[in-house]
Amino acid sequence: MGEPSRDPAAYEVPKAKGSTHLGAASVTVRMSEKEWSDKLRTNVFKVLRKKATEPGHRIKFPQGFDDHNDSGIYICAGCFAAGQQVPLYTSSMKFDCGCGWPGFWTNVQGAVYEQRDADGRRCEILCSKCEGHMGHVFRGEGFGYCTDERHCVNSLSLVFLPAKGGEAVAPSYTGPVFG
Ligand SMILES: [Zn+2]
Repeated sequence: MGEPSRDPAAYEVPKAKGSTHLGAASVTVRMSEKEWSDKLRTNVFKVLRKKATEPGHRIKFPQGFDDHNDSGIYICAGCFAAGQQVPLYTSSMKFDCGCGWPGFWTNVQGAVYEQRDADGRRCEILCSKCEGHMGHVFRGEGFGYCTDERHCVNSLSLVFLPAKGGEAVAPSYTGPVFG
């Protein structure tokens, strides 16, 4: 697998009202829980593999990506730890939703899938390749995008690759996560 394009314009976005780029699981990146916990930082492991949630509003860049607006792509932190660069979102898909976590109105086509939470209330979103927990998807909030989706994603689930080149940027937050 080569390196993905870091140019946000290289990724299609949905254009028709009511469309979605959510896909289905197509798992190719597998590790034991022990391997995941060895490879991932503690709080990243808790979010990706145990479905924990980072604190909203409190982790500003470089601790998190909520207020981060540079041009580039966001790849899966789980796949990245396994040696793969899997683009999930781009800076063109990000918007300021005001909820305190990074918000995206769509995803790289097929890169993310959804499944209903065990309590049946919210829809979880996960990486299609490693089943890492990203966050939740909400609909019907009227932000004005054609998908009518808001992907509320944990910064810790993501690693950023700047369009201008340079090192991968992981959130520096090392504090507690919840749930
Ligand atoms: Zn992944």
